[in-house]
Amino acid sequence: MICANLAAVRKNIAAAAERCGRDPGEIELLAVSKHMDVDAVREAWQCGQHLFGENFVQEAGDKIARLDPGITWHFIGHLQSNKAAAAARLFHMIETVDRLKVAAALDRHALRLGRVLDILVQVNTGLEKQKSGVAPEHAGQFLKELATLTCLRVRGLMTMPPYSPDPEHSRPFFKLLKELAEDLRAQKLFADNVHVILSMGMSNDFAVAVEEGSTLVRIGTAIFGERT
Ligand SMILES: *Cc1c(COP(=O)(O)O)cnc(C)c1O
Repeated sequence: MICANLAAVRKNIAAAAERCGRDPGEIELLAVSKHMDVDAVREAWQCGQHLFGENFVQEAGDKIARLDPGITWHFIGHLQSNKAAAAARLFHMIETVDRLKVAAALDRHALRLGRVLDILVQVNTGLEKQKSGVAPEHAGQFLKELATLTCLRVRGLMTMPPYSPDPEHSRPFFKLLKELAEDLRAQKLFADNVHVILSMGMSNDFAVAVEEGSTLVRIGTAIFGERT
C-alpha cells in the first residue's frame, strides 16, 4: 500500500511539474512520518524513499535509532530551545526556524557537534495567530540576524497556509512565499542564492504548490494513510 501510494504521489508531482513546464527532478518529496511506526517508515524506505519528516524530537529520536543511518531526516514541528540539542544531533535540516533564541541554541549545539546545520525559515504567510512562523514583512530582518550564526545555513523558506479543503485557497499563500524568496534571493540573504528551497505543499495541495514553485513537498496522509 505504502509503495503504491508513494508511486502515485510521485506521478502526481511529476504531472503537476510538467503542466507548468518545470523539471520534476527539481522537486523533492519529504515523507511525513509523524505518528507512523518504524515498520511504516522502513516500508517506505524499501520502496526507495530516503527523505522523511518528523514533528516531535522524542518520537523521531526513537525511530531514527532503529532505522537505516542512510535516511535523511527533516524536522517540521514546533521547536523549543530545550530540544535544540537533540534536534541538532538528529536532523539534517530544521524547516521551522522562526525565533532567534531557538536559532542561537541550534547554532551553539551544531558548533559543539562540529557540524553545519541546514535550516529553513518558517513564514506565517496567512498571519494566523495560532501558527508559528515569522511575518513575511519581518523575514528579511530575521535572515540578516541569522547570518551572524556561523554553524547554520539558511537554505530557504517553509510555509503552511491556512487550512482549507480547497487546494486553490492555498495558491495565494504559495505565491506569496515564492515572491518573498525571490526578494530575499535578490538581496543575497540565503546561504546559496542559486538553489533556494521552497518547502510548501501537503497531501491536499501539493499539486498547486508545485505549480507555484515548490521545491520540497511535505506529504504524510497521501503516503501513509490517515493518522490515528
Ligand atoms: C503533518 C504535516 C504535514 C503532512 O500533512 P499531510 O496533510 O498528512 O500530508 C506537512 N507539513 C507539516 C508541517 C506537518 O505538520
